Amino acid sequence: MPMARFWSSMAKRAEPYIPGEQLNKENILKLNTNENPYPPSPKVIEAITKEVGKELRLYPSPTMENLRHEIASYYHLKMENVFIGNGSDEVLAFSYMAFFEPGNEILFPNITYSFYPVYAKLFNITYKEVALNEDFTFNTEAFFQSEGGVIFPNPNAPTSIYLPLEQVEEIVKNNPNTVVIVDEAYIDFAQASAVELIDKYDNLLVIQTMSKSRSLAGLRVGFALGNEKLIKALVRMKDSFNSYPIDRLAMIGATAAIRDKEYFEETTAKIIKTRTWVTEELIELGFDVFPSATNFVFATHPKTLAKKLYETLREQDILIRYFGKKPIDNFVRITVGTDVEMKRFIQTVKKIV
Ligand code: PMP
Repeated sequence: MPMARFWSSMAKRAEPYIPGEQLNKENILKLNTNENPYPPSPKVIEAITKEVGKELRLYPSPTMENLRHEIASYYHLKMENVFIGNGSDEVLAFSYMAFFEPGNEILFPNITYSFYPVYAKLFNITYKEVALNEDFTFNTEAFFQSEGGVIFPNPNAPTSIYLPLEQVEEIVKNNPNTVVIVDEAYIDFAQASAVELIDKYDNLLVIQTMSKSRSLAGLRVGFALGNEKLIKALVRMKDSFNSYPIDRLAMIGATAAIRDKEYFEETTAKIIKTRTWVTEELIELGFDVFPSATNFVFATHPKTLAKKLYETLREQDILIRYFGKKPIDNFVRITVGTDVEMKRFIQTVKKIV
C-alpha cells in the first residue's frame, strides 16, 4: 500500500470499527443498528427548531452545564458526576485514554461490543477476552482482580442479556485498584442501572447514550456518570482533543429529551411490549431467542443458517445484523421496530424458515 509510507504507527495499527449499513432506500426496513423506531419527542424538535438562528455563529458551551445539570438531576447526582461526549462511542474512547494504561491488561467479554478491541488496538492497550458461559451469561469471577481495568456492556451486546446488579457490584468491588466501565447503552430497556452504586465505589464509571431509548442517534450525545475524580480525568482528555464536542443543537435537543420523561417512558414501554411478542413469534417459528433486556433480540435457528436468513431478508429490503464471526456466526441480531414493522418482518421470516 504506497500511501502507508506517510502513515503514523497509530494510523497503521488501527483496525477501524465497521458500523451497520445505512441504506437510504425507500421502503427499507432498518432493523440493523438498534435505532429507535419512534421519532424524538416533539419537545426536542421544538427546542432544536428554536435554536436554529443567528446564535449558531457562537461556539457552544465547553462545559455543557445545562445538559449536565439536567442529567444529574434525573439521576439524583451532582453536575460534577456527569461528563458529556459526542455519542457514547466518543465517551468510551476518552475513557480508554483516561483510565487504561498500555502494558496493563484490561478485560472484556469474548462476545461483546466490537468497538472495545478497536480502541484497545488504537491506544496500545493489551486486552484479554473473557469467555462467557455457554448460555452467554457472565462468569463474574473471571472479571475479578484485573491488571488494567474492566469494560463490559450491561445489558451485553449483541447477546441482549442483562447482568443482575449484584453481580455488577461484585465485579466493581473485586477490582479496587482499577476502573470498571459499565456501558449501559441499552439499560433503559432493562432493569436497574449501576448508577446507584456510584456513591459507593470511586472506581465505577457508567456510560449511557441518547441514541437508543431517547431516539437521538442522529444527534450524537452520550454521557458518563461517576465519581468527580473520574469525571475530571475525562474532561482533561476532552480538553486536550476538542473543547466543543457537542454542538448547540445537540445540547438543546438532548436537554429537552431528558426533560420529557413522559414521552421517554411511553416509547420505551412500547418497544418492550413489541419485544415480548416478537420473541414469542420467533420461538413459535423454531428460533432460539435469548431473554432480551434491550431494544433488539439475538436469535438462532436450528435449520436456517443465519447468513442465509440475513441475505434473503436483505433481498427483500429488510436489514438485520449478521456478524459472521465465531462463536456467533449462526446468530442474527434484530432491532425491535414498531408493531407494524415487526409484523412485516415476521411475515417475511415465516416464508424463509
Ligand atoms: N455501546 C454499545 C454497547 C452499543 O451497542 C453502541 C451502539 N453502537 C454504543 C455504545 C455507541 O452508541 P452511540 O455512540 O450512538 O452513543
